[in-house]
Amino acid sequence: MTETVVEHVDILIIGAGPVGMTLHLALAAGGQKSLLLDRRPLDAQQTDPRALALSHGARQLLEQVNAWPTRAATAIETIHVSQKGGFGRTVIDRADYDLPALGYVVRYRDLAAALATQLSADALLAAVEILDITPADDHVTVALRQAGQQRTIQTKLLIHAEGTPSDDPDVKVSDYGQHAVIAEITPQPGHNKRAWERFTPDGPLALLPLGNDYSVVFTLPPAKADAVMAMDDDAFTAALQSQFGSRMSFSKPGPRSRFPLALRMRDTLVKGNEVWIGNTAQTLHPVSGQGFNLGLRDAWQLAEILLKNGVDRDRQGVFRWDESLSSYAASRRLDRQGSALFTDQIVRTFSNDFGPLKLARGLGLLALDVFPPARHFVAKRMIWGARAWP
Ligand SMILES: Cc1cc2nc3c(=O)[nH]c(=O)nc-3n(C[C@H](O)[C@H](O)[C@H](O)COP(=O)(O)OP(=O)(O)OC[C@H]3O[C@@H](n4cnc5c(N)ncnc54)[C@H](O)[C@@H]3O)c2cc1C
Repeated sequence: MTETVVEHVDILIIGAGPVGMTLHLALAAGGQKSLLLDRRPLDAQQTDPRALALSHGARQLLEQVNAWPTRAATAIETIHVSQKGGFGRTVIDRADYDLPALGYVVRYRDLAAALATQLSADALLAAVEILDITPADDHVTVALRQAGQQRTIQTKLLIHAEGTPSDDPDVKVSDYGQHAVIAEITPQPGHNKRAWERFTPDGPLALLPLGNDYSVVFTLPPAKADAVMAMDDDAFTAALQSQFGSRMSFSKPGPRSRFPLALRMRDTLVKGNEVWIGNTAQTLHPVSGQGFNLGLRDAWQLAEILLKNGVDRDRQGVFRWDESLSSYAASRRLDRQGSALFTDQIVRTFSNDFGPLKLARGLGLLALDVFPPARHFVAKRMIWGARAWP
């Protein structure tokens, strides 16, 4: 009878998406080893169609692990916010904040590639299937299969970074009844580094400057998303055009993809020797581009706390993460709840055609425009996240 060989690691991270990879690199920069696992081969990330708006703060963190994709990033210098069929609009301008840009737009695949090039050869087990996770008092055992071989890994700390969870009793789901249809399209004249956030009765519509194109995020009820997905390129271009009038024209739309949208909040970020970060901890609506920025701050804060406290051992040499983990969970409360509330309120306030609300929204946008402190309040949350929270 062959005995199962058990491999031992201090920290195991499930999910080598951008959040898991950032955590691994931040730990490595502080001298702490960890092992990443992913169910997909690494190059599968190169097929992800998303473009991500990243805050100025996110750039600063990614630069610290040498994973800022300079050439693939397009700066956002102004953001124009308006509502279709209603008055009121505001423009947020980088010049008011003494910053090179309000934020940046990067393709998911370029960000993933920039992070992956920083991984050492033994950092990642890719294309694995997790068979079982068994928690114990001072470790967690993970059984997995890779290339037909079964392996058992015992870890002192298991970090979940596996992205949006499916059904899980620990995750509260609030369905928005909206799908995001995304595509890239070429604007005439050029975008001049301006992003657009336009609120329509169906849901928010964003145009994000990306290279010479715009990345479009069209938020729609599912039936309308079906119709938009089925359109030919001319009809899709005309549908987008009808939202923007004669301000600019569009051509050469790329392939479309869709994502159903819901707010998913995990009740507790820590259980025993397991921690949840990134989209698996909270999945937000993409309006105002908060999701990855928030997941990045999860990864960063967890790395800082683990590195500061060191791989604590008591006198018997048993690892004790309890203090680090409870201080991590407490430190993330305000940022995750604030970001979730911010995006949720925007979606619920703006995604309808109710007359009095339309008027209130117009007044709100007007107030942002004529009252700089209110505009700065919103802008700073876009630039810094909760670091700007009072
Ligand atoms: C349309 C759209 C637009 C968006 N726009 C923005 C934006 O502008 N700005 C922004 O900040 N955010 C945006 N987001 C959110 C952003 O995409 C996510 O927050 C981010 O990708 C989360 O990263 P992650 O690493 O947590 O998860 P993921 O990117 O989902 O990565 C998870 C990884 O875990 C792996 N995995 C999953 N299950 C397992 C398993 N069982 N075993 C092993 N591995 C597993 C997956 O293969 C994957 O590699 C947008 C989202 C959508 C849908």
